[in-house]
Amino acid sequence: MSSNTLFLRLDAPMQSWGNQESKFVVRRTGEAPTKSGVIGLLCAALGVTRSEAADVWLTRLAELRMGVRIDAPGIRWWDYHTVGARMDMRIAEGARKTKQGALLTRREYLCDASFLVALQGEPALITELSAAIRNPRWTLYLGRKCCPPARPVWEQPAGEFPDMLSAITSIAWRKRMSGDMPPQSIDCLLEWRATPEEAEAPADALIWYDVPLTLEPPSHRARFVVRRRLPVGRNCEVNIADKAAHSATPVPPRQRADYGNTEYKKRRAERMERDCGLCVFCKAPATTVQHVTYRRAGGDEDQEDLRSLCRLCHDAVTMIEYGLGMGLDRIDPEELRWREIITAKRAEIVKFRSLETRRRRLAAKEVE
Ligand SMILES: [Zn+2]
Repeated sequence: MSSNTLFLRLDAPMQSWGNQESKFVVRRTGEAPTKSGVIGLLCAALGVTRSEAADVWLTRLAELRMGVRIDAPGIRWWDYHTVGARMDMRIAEGARKTKQGALLTRREYLCDASFLVALQGEPALITELSAAIRNPRWTLYLGRKCCPPARPVWEQPAGEFPDMLSAITSIAWRKRMSGDMPPQSIDCLLEWRATPEEAEAPADALIWYDVPLTLEPPSHRARFVVRRRLPVGRNCEVNIADKAAHSATPVPPRQRADYGNTEYKKRRAERMERDCGLCVFCKAPATTVQHVTYRRAGGDEDQEDLRSLCRLCHDAVTMIEYGLGMGLDRIDPEELRWREIITAKRAEIVKFRSLETRRRRLAAKEVE
């Protein structure tokens, strides 16, 4: 029998799925497993070394289409974590002085979360991965090495499904503890890819930068992820909502100003003039004006609600905001705490774009 879908159960007291916003001193977790994290887990199951992963496996595994069902979202928690204690580590103290000591880092975890992950791909690959997950070569962990799974990651035999939605609804909601009651609905995060029938991503698609391209240095490319809410029935079965319910799914709102509004246009121009037509972050010529809050959007903006930005800084800020799933209050690029994060994201975009340009040029030559 040819099976195109592998199921994983990621259930643990602690898991942590660092995304691109996860930097050294503050390491956050996303709300659900990332593709890079799941690929890491598959590599551990296969017993693939880092160099083997970079040469062959990253590309093969990135081809898999991933769907995640959030059976239990868990709660977020920080641990107390130090680096370098008693290891002759010098840390900054004041302006120039350093002293010997440990560096305190913050790491965030999802506690008591449970995810069903479905991976779809070529039957031969699915069979190989299924065997590896059932009998892993190396220790499996959920995002970080300190997060072992609480139950076998191998959920059930791989199966054949026409699409991701039917695969992810084929397994009933599963309780973690004896007293757990089924929720009325659960959320799914489904990887979206263009098809001849659907060439454009839905308007509510999210962009996740979590498909690993290289390991040294770590770099990622983007993929589209669509969030869907699925009703859970009396016997814990998970149903596919009808089309109307799909569109009514409450998506975390992507706030937008009414850009056509005359009053808004005026305030935008005023802010641009106040910033002398320069990006507030890098002082390049500004091309756009960014909202730092949408509390007064649509023509009611204060000057303080807006910032002039160049295209690169705007893209960097927007990507960070998507990654963090921010609400009405957004990133203020003039605030010091964002400085390093925006600088790093800008560098990442420049690198990604130059890689893409090079790749496109190479592809054109091959066609000729
Ligand atoms: Zn700029």
